[in-house]
Amino acid sequence: MSTPKILILGAGYGGLMTALKLQKELSYGEADVTLINKHDYHYITTQLHELAAGTGDPEDARVFLDELLDARKIRFVKAVVTEIKPQERKVETTGGTFDYDYLVIGLGSEPETFGIQGLKEYALCIRSLNAVRMIREHIEYNFARYKNEPEREELLTIIVGGAGFTGIEFVGELADRVPELCKAFDVDPAKVKIINIEAAPTALPGFDPELVEYAMNVLQKKGVTFRINTPIKECTPEGVILANGEEIKAGTVVWTGGVRGNSLVEKAGFETMRGRVKVDDYLRAPGYDNVFVVGDCSLVFNEQGRPYPPTAQIAIQEGQNCARNLVALVRGGSLEPFKPHIRGTVASLGRGEAIGIVGGRKLTGSAAAWMKKLIDLRYLYLIGGLSLVLRKGRHKLLRV
Ligand code: FAD
Ligand code: NAD
Repeated sequence: MSTPKILILGAGYGGLMTALKLQKELSYGEADVTLINKHDYHYITTQLHELAAGTGDPEDARVFLDELLDARKIRFVKAVVTEIKPQERKVETTGGTFDYDYLVIGLGSEPETFGIQGLKEYALCIRSLNAVRMIREHIEYNFARYKNEPEREELLTIIVGGAGFTGIEFVGELADRVPELCKAFDVDPAKVKIINIEAAPTALPGFDPELVEYAMNVLQKKGVTFRINTPIKECTPEGVILANGEEIKAGTVVWTGGVRGNSLVEKAGFETMRGRVKVDDYLRAPGYDNVFVVGDCSLVFNEQGRPYPPTAQIAIQEGQNCARNLVALVRGGSLEPFKPHIRGTVASLGRGEAIGIVGGRKLTGSAAAWMKKLIDLRYLYLIGGLSLVLRKGRHKLLRV
């Protein structure tokens, strides 16, 4: 029998974890494993809000794949996937066509714009290393512009659309960055506005109300203004228009209103909900025993029939389960169903502050902030061992 071909699309949390576990478990030559990603590095998505605000260094959030992969076991191809053809068992990319026996789709998510007019054109999104570099530079550019056009105070207004975890973590970092920006550009801090706009009746809808209140108090004290129960209806070159018709002018609009699965998945013909494939117990796409979907492209339900939110925590565990099952398929063993172990949720509110629930216990303040650091460091350890923790995680320990 010929060597089975395993093709992994995306080197994010799900795809990279699948590749690394296959690398560990499979012997040389047991399978022909190829990993395709649009960059030759993996980025730590859970730190992107810091880079967007300018409180973190992009180099600390990227890890070159050749540092993690054993080229004798995993062939890495830097290319952009352009089409998935599951019926033909083929994938089209900018680097050519690839065929496979087993496919793993881990292409992550895209911003969900809900068809809101002007969002795609005028709002920035926290979605990749290059995207957050643009946010950081855009904010800095507007501070510089304001010094040349002082009548345009709206250049110093930053609107963040959506107060889910991404929005909340981002405004926490932004509030920390503002004093530094004001000093650098000689701007009066009283003129800077950070406005977090949320459609639902509360920030962090569905999260523990006591912790939400704690978070809002911390962020308001840092200078963030919340507009809750206030859907954004339109985004324009000048700012946003709310559902009640009110216009808020702003030099920067960052959209953190939610995500959907990568559009390539829907285009491939898989049945999706918000771009995510409702996978079977083994993370396979319905109708395709040889196509696994991990991370934000997959949709898994809990025992109450509610979908798990797309998180790195789940993506990592899915990658591990998928690799285990691929090894079983290569060796003729039996498949293990995917059972997520949700350890909790911790969200940063900027320097030294966070909220979270871990193992059923509520955490706030520095205890939560340390827990967040530990979670981030644990991930670095998982993918690259102690040496990666020391190289990429040191700044976490130094920033108290
Ligand atoms: P990703 O990690 O996004 O990886 C997708 C990969 O596919 C990327 O490498 C991308 O470059 C590549 N790719 C995409 N399209 C193509 C293409 N066409 N061709 C080739 N390659 C492609 N979750 C938590 O559990 N805890 C947290 O604290 C947390 N914090 C977060 C903070 C922020 C600011 C954000 C935005 C998200 C956070 N999340 C967190 C959610 C978490 O980051 C995602 O759920 C996770 O990244 C999903 O992993 P993934 O493997 O599906 O996708
Ligand atoms: P989300 O869907 O969790 O939150 C988006 C928010 O935007 C919601 O509160 C929604 O009501 C609001 N919104 C939608 N339309 C709006 C409109 N028109 N006007 C104003 N507000 C609007 O999305 P997210 O925050 O980007 O998070 C994506 C995923 O990543 C989630 O699963 C989240 O749990 C995960 N995440 C986790 C962490 C963490 O664990 N620390 C951090 C960031 C993201």
